[in-house]
Amino acid sequence: MFKSFHPSINELQTPLIIAGPCSAESEEQLLEVAMQIKAAGAHVMRAGAWKPRTRPNAFEGFGLEALTWMQNVSIKTGIPFVTEVATPNHVEMVLKAGISMVWIGARTTVNPFLVQQIADALKGSDMPVFVKNPVNPDVSLWRGGIERFLNNGLTKVAAIHRGFSSYENSVYRNKPNWELAIELRRQMPQLPMIGDPSHICGNTTLIKEVAQIALDLQYNGLMIEVHPHPEKALSDAQQQLTPAAFCDLMKQLIVRKASAENAFELSKLEDLRDFIDEIDDAIIDKIAERMNVARKIGQYKNENNIAILQPERFREILDTRTKKGISNMLTKEFILRLYSLIHEESIFQQTTQMDNSAKIKSEKTK
Ligand code: PEP
Ligand code: MN
Repeated sequence: MFKSFHPSINELQTPLIIAGPCSAESEEQLLEVAMQIKAAGAHVMRAGAWKPRTRPNAFEGFGLEALTWMQNVSIKTGIPFVTEVATPNHVEMVLKAGISMVWIGARTTVNPFLVQQIADALKGSDMPVFVKNPVNPDVSLWRGGIERFLNNGLTKVAAIHRGFSSYENSVYRNKPNWELAIELRRQMPQLPMIGDPSHICGNTTLIKEVAQIALDLQYNGLMIEVHPHPEKALSDAQQQLTPAAFCDLMKQLIVRKASAENAFELSKLEDLRDFIDEIDDAIIDKIAERMNVARKIGQYKNENNIAILQPERFREILDTRTKKGISNMLTKEFILRLYSLIHEESIFQQTTQMDNSAKIKSEKTK
């Protein structure tokens, strides 16, 4: 099992499936889940021994006792365990208990001193380490956390994408901000990326959709919370799947090929790509045409001493364009971002035009 888990993406043959309860609650609970997730195709079992809770006096995990349960269940079922470590003391206990892998929680990744202490405590071991993204949307902080383990000679390091806290209303408990995980992979192409749909969603209804997106983005695995009786769970009750629901999910998820395999698929893809190239060409021509008009407006405003930024007009543009976008299956968020960019460039083009016209004018009057 451990041989197949390696930081090189090429050596991970299948998506690594990690499943199990948010918290280890008893040896019986772990054994029941272990047998069922294993039968459904999971490779590794997750369970928290120490739970970082938002408010005090909440259930914070069974600690050392939970590690003994994990050890026993691992021996009985052959499934390796991964658990969260949040202090060097946790690391010491996990190493002694022979737990196979550790993850660093989102609330720990935000703290470079703590991550360094954990990385120091793991130095010299061969422990696979999964680093969750920090709660705040900061790719450098996530990368920094990963680098602290790599710098200490730990080679089996992977990232877990569990979404980002946000104050805005969202259907997600933690917004995925997929672009941040994509950016981390761009920066560290060898780093395996594991999706954590349970903590992204915060409920069970969206898990399949989010898990499929992660697979479609060629993530190297998934971590899914599974509890025999989710409604009675001591933590994260709303987002845990029953073992039966997990089994269904495993059957429904589609693992796609990384690229086209035969000549027919390739030629079909090539045709579609040619079409995309033509569309992109037309998009750039049209944007250039639009900027040309913007420069003319800049010149006109200059000659007539009219301010460049017209908030009323911009509001009207956003309003009509989002309506049109939505009726064409584009999201409001996308149109808003697109038009903010176009508007910013338009303003830049207009001001440059104004400056140039002003220069020409002053040269003429010299
Ligand atoms: C967990 O995995 O149960 C957990 C507490 O995760 P996170 O650090 O992503 O909140
Ligand atoms: Mn949880």
